[in-house]
Amino acid sequence: MRMAQGIPDEVLMNSALIKELAEEAKDSAVTQGVLMRLQETPNSSEVVSFAPFTLFPTPVPKAVFSQALAVQTHYNTLVDKISQDADFLQEALASTITVDDFTARLFKIHQQILKEGRSQSIVLGLNRSDYMLDQRENDTPSLKQIEINTIAASFGGLSSRTPDVHRHILKMAGRLEESERILDNNPAAGLARAIAKAWELYGSEKAVVVFLVEDVQRNIFDQRYVEYELWKRNIHVIRLRFEDVFKAGSLDQDKRLFVDSKEVAVVYFRNGYMPDNYTSEQSWDARLLMERSRAVKCPDISTHLAGTKKVQQVLARPGVLERFFPDQPQAVQQIRATFAGLYTLDLGPEGDKTVSMALAAPERFVLKPQREGGGNNIYGSEICQVLEQVKESTERTAYILMDKIHPTPVRNYLMRQGSPLKISNCLSELGVFGAYVRQGKDMVTNECVGHLLRTKSSEHSDGGVAAGVAVLDNPLLF
Ligand code: ADP
Ligand code: MG
Repeated sequence: MRMAQGIPDEVLMNSALIKELAEEAKDSAVTQGVLMRLQETPNSSEVVSFAPFTLFPTPVPKAVFSQALAVQTHYNTLVDKISQDADFLQEALASTITVDDFTARLFKIHQQILKEGRSQSIVLGLNRSDYMLDQRENDTPSLKQIEINTIAASFGGLSSRTPDVHRHILKMAGRLEESERILDNNPAAGLARAIAKAWELYGSEKAVVVFLVEDVQRNIFDQRYVEYELWKRNIHVIRLRFEDVFKAGSLDQDKRLFVDSKEVAVVYFRNGYMPDNYTSEQSWDARLLMERSRAVKCPDISTHLAGTKKVQQVLARPGVLERFFPDQPQAVQQIRATFAGLYTLDLGPEGDKTVSMALAAPERFVLKPQREGGGNNIYGSEICQVLEQVKESTERTAYILMDKIHPTPVRNYLMRQGSPLKISNCLSELGVFGAYVRQGKDMVTNECVGHLLRTKSSEHSDGGVAAGVAVLDNPLLF
């Protein structure tokens, strides 16, 4: 295998040099602040290590990179429009919520909010659209969306710190020209800018921003970079868990949210994206309390639902994007160009066709339940096992089927604390961060605020950085 426009073999295969670079890289990552807490001590910063990263950046064609950045503001608009279209969400998720308890639970909150009426017209959206580059034989690679994350999209902080690590390593390796091709990247600043805007529009100087965080906080530094950007603006940030909100949270008669005696302007969810995050009924009560409140939610419940995989599949149906962009064929075309094949498993002839197609060639597809956080998808022969079990029942509607994307493998070294140094065949996933703030009908800001490249060994079909599979990387544009 050859590295297109990337790091030449004379560097990659020079084991003495690689060893030296790896030690340099760890120091550089630590000093740049590319950090993660240890698995053994996830709630202490007494001893920490570098967050996993690649030794070298990965070549990415300029054209597809620009394409991904250019479509982001349209994706922001799309997510926001879906979140306001109750009929669409109802219809899109109807089959899913009959079998998927988690989505059903979120949907119930969404319905309750609609019934009660939204108490806040300011909407803050921070999302990350993820892509892989599909490489079919000698064609140019094409950008295909894997999913869009509308809740708790991570690594905007750490990815603001990785460019200097790769620049340094490339310089050490005598690759000055490549080092100058590593882009600056600062999603942390862009995400914080949007949070600050929402806070400002909320209009109470004393009110705080809440980061709603997990019980186990290994990836805390990623969040800290966003927090510090807010503190720089003299915006007070507090970190709370569902439990804290349950115990100390309340609404006043205007539905202003108070925790202890602090008024909350914005709740930024870095938790709450998967069933395990809700450790008890109290977590659900806390989520509902925040949703009902006048605080700006990032995301609000409807925007959370807009990011489900079922919605992604429905969007790929003919005519659906046009519903959201009736006068913008250009936006429709740009978004649709990034769609991979997505297929319904709803009961009926169309879903039946999906089942037989998947059973006939499982290696061409990925079977996805309505879950986030990595490690939930089903591949290869396991697709057949699962489908054989559920194909005659409504249970199958908990899943969607998607074409499998085939990126070109690239060799690299994955730097992980405690792992031996070895060369791996790697696949990368490009994420693009979007940020927007809407007040009523008025889109106040709508931006693309940076990118994230994550790379994993091709032995792993699934899983992100937090799941311990992928590592942080940078695109080397060519
Ligand atoms: P999650 O919400 O768990 O992150 P994703 O849809 O992002 O779910 O899938 C998790 C991982 O599985 C991705 O990061 C990617 O590595 C792999 N994956 C997902 N969909 C595809 C696909 N269509 N083709 C190839 N790999 C995929
Ligand atoms: Mg993902």
